[in-house]
Formats: sequence, structure tokens, C-alpha cells
Amino acid sequence: MKRVLITGAAGFLGSHLCDRFIKEGYHVIGMDNLLTGSLDNIQHLFPLKEFEYYHHDITKFVHVPGELDYILHFASPASPIDYLKMPIQTLKVGALGTHNLLGLAKAKKARILVASTSEVYGDPLIHPQKEDYWGNVNPVGPRGVYDEAKRFLEAITMAYHNFHGVETRIVRIFNTYGPRMRVDDGRALPAFFAQAIRGEGLTVFGDGSQTRSFCYVDDLVEGIYRLLLSGHHLPVNIGNPDEISIKGFAEEILALVGNPDAKITYKELPKDDPKVRQPDITKAREILGWEPTVPRAEGLKITLDYFREHVK
Ligand code: NAD
Ligand code: UDP
Repeated sequence: MKRVLITGAAGFLGSHLCDRFIKEGYHVIGMDNLLTGSLDNIQHLFPLKEFEYYHHDITKFVHVPGELDYILHFASPASPIDYLKMPIQTLKVGALGTHNLLGLAKAKKARILVASTSEVYGDPLIHPQKEDYWGNVNPVGPRGVYDEAKRFLEAITMAYHNFHGVETRIVRIFNTYGPRMRVDDGRALPAFFAQAIRGEGLTVFGDGSQTRSFCYVDDLVEGIYRLLLSGHHLPVNIGNPDEISIKGFAEEILALVGNPDAKITYKELPKDDPKVRQPDITKAREILGWEPTVPRAEGLKITLDYFREHVK
């Protein structure tokens, strides 16, 4: 049985990855320090003998007994309000945490896939974003703590590949949504769903003309699974190119939830908020034979069921 370590296992994406690798017949070792995650996301896995959980802060030396075939490094605060509240932890987990996991991969001769982000493109001047675009990031702005941590993550991952011959994979993840997003994590989708269900104002920042492209979590997990098993060590975008303005997105959620008390309200646009974002997924199509299959209307319906159960 192949053994895989997943960091950030109690988080949104990490928990879905645990499910997928269990389903594929792997022994899964989940690691997390619950900084932004919750054991509720992986509670259902605890009875399984194929699953182990280690409570550990990966910015400290990481030890895992036994052999490892694969490491999926997903630990990091990911929502803007989380990383603005915890700037030092965010930098440390992207830098020291990634270094520790690469060291572990080298020691265990394991293949490691690291979670990068569309934020490495910053407020992009090229649209849609292709992997060979170097980005437009403000290193000293509020989002710099996340963006630069992830740019460092990519750089040190490439260095371990080139210098130590570690088998590495880098996924650049674009906005992803689905069940198990934290209701209060401040990202647009949880905020809008919670506000619409409660009959509050949907807080659209700025005039809502900025765009994002939202990918359903199952599609993302499939892309990551294929990338891990592929032979490609350079960064690959995984995301859904179906782009929408944030105002349009709020309107879709209003219509879907159907609460007559909920309306759009406008708030100030946060500093350095990217104006556009859409993945060019040509590379994923060619190398992985991957493309998203879940349309937003369908993914949002499944996600709404989750939020109806979890919004208080
Ligand atoms: P999340 O906050 O739900 O999950 C992150 C997990 O990492 C949490 O369970 C948290 O407790 C854990 N963690 C944080 N610091 C840790 C540390 N020092 N030691 C151990 N565990 C730690 O976020 P998510 O949306 O699941 O994101 C997971 C990864 O994917 C992150 O690396 C993020 O940067 C990346 N990513 C996510 C998205 C997205 O749309 N969700 C987009 C781009 C990149
Ligand atoms: N946003 C918004 N209202 C909210 C939360 C977010 O209008 O309550 C906007 C935010 O300014 C950004 C977009 O929605 O333009 C996506 O924000 P999110 O935090 O989900 O992700 P990111 O900015 O990291 O793409």
C-alpha cells in the first residue's frame, strides 16, 4: 500500500485530498496544527486503519516514521483575512514549512507536490494567466506575505529538484470552492452564501467589476491527482477558466439562495486586490488531459446544501 503524507489535512482542500487518496487505496497520513482548519473536516476518516493523523506545526522539524511515497504540501492560511491576521505564520509556513517538507521528501526519497497559487501572478498585467507569466506582485503590500511566501515555495521547490534531484510537482491553484470551506473565512463565496442565507447585505468590495474564475473542488482534486502522477516538474495552472465579475457572482448567489431580505451592499476594495484572474489551462489540458467538468451552477448548488447546514 502506497503511503502519502498530506499537510493541511484538516483544511478545505487537504481534507478533500485525504478522501480522494483513501478512495484510491493509499495509506494517508494527515498533518495539521488546526491554525485555520478543523477536525470536523476529517472526523469521518478517524475510524479507518488506512488513516493516521498527526497534530504538528510544520514550521518545526517534521518527523514521520516509516516510508513515504508521496507528500502533498497544502498547509498554509489561504484566505485573505486569515493571512492578513497571521502574516508571520503565513510567511513561516510557506518558507520554513516548505523547507522542512522538502527535506523530508529528500530523506524519504518521496515525490512531493506543493500547493502554489494564482496569487504568484499578483494583480496580473497578462490575461488570462499562463504559467510563463512572471507576475505583478507588491512584495511590501498586505497580500505580499502570502504571495511572496508562495513564490519562495516555488523557488525552493525548484532548487530541491535541480540541486538535490528531488521529484517535485508544483500546482498553481486558482480560486476553488465547495463543501468544507469555513463559513467565516472571509472569502467571497462563504461570505456571500452566509449573508444570503441570513438575509444580510452581500458585501461586494469596490464596484464588483473585478473578476475571478471559480473551480469546483472535485475538479481541482482530479487535476492535482493527475499532476502528482505525471512526469512534469514545472508549475501547472489548475482552475476553471469560466470567469465572472464579483458583482455577477453575488447576483448568482442571491438568485440561488432566494432570500428576499438579502441584497448587495458595497464596501471599500481592499488594497492590491487583483482586478482580473483567469487561468490559461492549455498546459493542464495537454500534459494531464485535464479540464474542469463541473459547471458553476452545479457546483454552487452542492455547496449551498453544505452552507445551509453550517450557517448559524
Ligand atoms: P485552509 O485554511 O482550509 O487549509 C489550510 C490548512 O493548513 C488548515 O487546516 C491549517 O490549520 C493548516 N495549517 C496552516 N499552517 C500550518 C502549520 N504551520 N502547520 C500545520 N498545519 C498548518 O485552506 P485551503 O483553502 O484548504 O488551502 C490549502 C492550500 O491550498 C494552501 O496552501 C493554499 O495556499 C492553497 N490554495 C488554495 C486555494 C483555494 O482556492 N482554496 C487557492 C490557491 C492556493
Ligand atoms: N470579495 C468581496 N466581498 C467579500 C469577500 C471578497 O467582494 O465579502 C471580493 C474580493 O475583494 C476579491 C474577490 O471577491 O475581489 C475574491 O475574493 P476572495 O477573498 O474570495 O479570494 P481572492 O481575492 O484571494 O481571489
